[in-house]
Amino acid sequence: MKIEIQDITFTYGSHKILDNITFRISSGKFVGVIGPNGSGKTTFLKVLSRILRPTAGCVTLGEQLLEQFSQKELARTMAVVSQDTNSGYQFTVEDVVLMGRAPYLGRFQSESIADYEIVRQALEVTGCSHLKDRYITELSGGERQRVMIARALAQQPKVLLLDEPTSHLDIGYQQEILDLVKRLSTTEGITVVAVLHDLNLAAYYCHELVLVQQGKILACGLPTEVVTAENIEKVYGTRVLVSPHPVFGTPQVSLLPGMYRQSKTQQLDHIHIIAGGGSGGELMRDLCDSGYYVTAGVLSIGDSDWEAARALNLPVISEAPFSSVSSTRHQEHLKMLQKAQAVVLAEIPLGHGNLLNLEAALQAAAAGIKVYVLEEKPEQNRDFTGGEGQKLLRQVKEQGILITEKAQLYRALAEQLRLNSSLDDLSKETNSASSG
Ligand code: ADP
Repeated sequence: MKIEIQDITFTYGSHKILDNITFRISSGKFVGVIGPNGSGKTTFLKVLSRILRPTAGCVTLGEQLLEQFSQKELARTMAVVSQDTNSGYQFTVEDVVLMGRAPYLGRFQSESIADYEIVRQALEVTGCSHLKDRYITELSGGERQRVMIARALAQQPKVLLLDEPTSHLDIGYQQEILDLVKRLSTTEGITVVAVLHDLNLAAYYCHELVLVQQGKILACGLPTEVVTAENIEKVYGTRVLVSPHPVFGTPQVSLLPGMYRQSKTQQLDHIHIIAGGGSGGELMRDLCDSGYYVTAGVLSIGDSDWEAARALNLPVISEAPFSSVSSTRHQEHLKMLQKAQAVVLAEIPLGHGNLLNLEAALQAAAAGIKVYVLEEKPEQNRDFTGGEGQKLLRQVKEQGILITEKAQLYRALAEQLRLNSSLDDLSKETNSASSG
C-alpha cells in the first residue's frame, strides 16, 4: 500500500515540530526515517498513525485519506510499534500478541484456531515462542520489543510503522528483526516506515531514507543519496567518513576524530610517521589525540593510511597509486623529516616500491633525529623483496630505537619530548645568562 504525505505541518502550541513535510512512499518499500534527537521523527510517525492530527496537510493510505478510515479498518491496515512498549498490565506474551487479532473479531467473538495459528507464527518469526506464557511485565526491554513486533505481525497489516524497533536489541536480534522487516516488505509487499537511530543499519536495510532536521526534510531518496558525509555533518554536527560497505556497497558511516585543524604555528612537537598498508592509521590518530603535530609519508594515494592522514588533515607526501616512491617524492620526504623531532617507522609491508622510505628513516637517524621502529609482531614476515627490505630494516633498527608495543612508544615519545623541552629551557636560560 502506497503512502502519500502532503504538506504536513504539526505544532505543539506555538512550537512548529513538523514543517511542510511532503513525500511519497511506494507500496512494499522499507523506508527509514533518520535524524538527530528532537528533530520530529516520532511526531512524524504519530501523525502517520493518526495518534496526532496534523495542523495542516494530509496523509493518504492507498487511495483513501487517513482521516476517513474507521478505527477497525485502520487497525487492519496499519500496525504500529511504538517506543513505549511497557503497558504495565499483567498480560502473558501470548495474550498480548493475540490482541493483534482484535481488529478481525466481531463484538464478543472469541479467537479461532486460525487466530491462534497466526499468533503462533508471529511468535515464531520474532523468536518469542519460548516466552509465550511469561508475563510481559517480566521481560527484558529487548524481549518486550520483539513481542510488540509479533503483535504487529499478528495484525497482518499492509503498512507497518516502527519507532526505533531495535533500540533495546543486541546486534544479533537487530539483524534478525531488520532481516524480518525487510523480508516482509520485499516478499509480502508490506510498506514499512521505521524510525532508526543507527545510520549504518538504516543505510544497510532500507530501500529509501528520509533525513529529518528540525521538522524539515533535509534529504530523501536512496541511502547513497542521503547518507553522505556532507549531510551527516550538516545535521549531526559531527565529522564522519562515509565509505561503501565492503561487500554490498551501501554507505557506511565511520566516526572521525573531532575537528583537527593542525597548525604548525602552535609550536607543537612534530612527529613524522612512515607508514603504509594500514600500519599507521591508529598511530596517526593516537598521536594527534595526544596533541602532537603529525606528518606522514611517503604514502600511495588511496592507501588506507593515506586516507587516514587525509581524514585527520595531516600534511602528507603522496605518491601516485601503485607506484614506487619516486626520487622527487623521496627528496620532499627527506625535507619533511628533517623538521621532525621524532620519526616513527610503523610495521609497513616491505616491497621494492617503498624501500626508499626505509632509506629516509636511515637518513633521519644519521641526521640525529630519534627514529622509533615499531614492531609489535616480530614473527610476522612482511618482507616481499627477497631479503633486501629486511636488511635495510635491520640497519634502521640498529640506528634507531626498537619498540615492541604502541603504549611503550607513546611513553617514550612523551619522555623524549619532555626532555627536549627542558633542555630547550635550559639552553634559553644559559643564553640569556651569558648575554646578560
Ligand atoms: P525525535 O523523535 O526526532 O527525537 P520528537 O518527535 O520526539 O523527536 O520531538 C520533536 C520535538 O517535539 C522535540 O523538540 C520535543 O521536545 C517536542 N515534543 C515532543 N512531544 C511533545 C509534547 N507532547 N508537547 C510538546 N512538545 C513535544
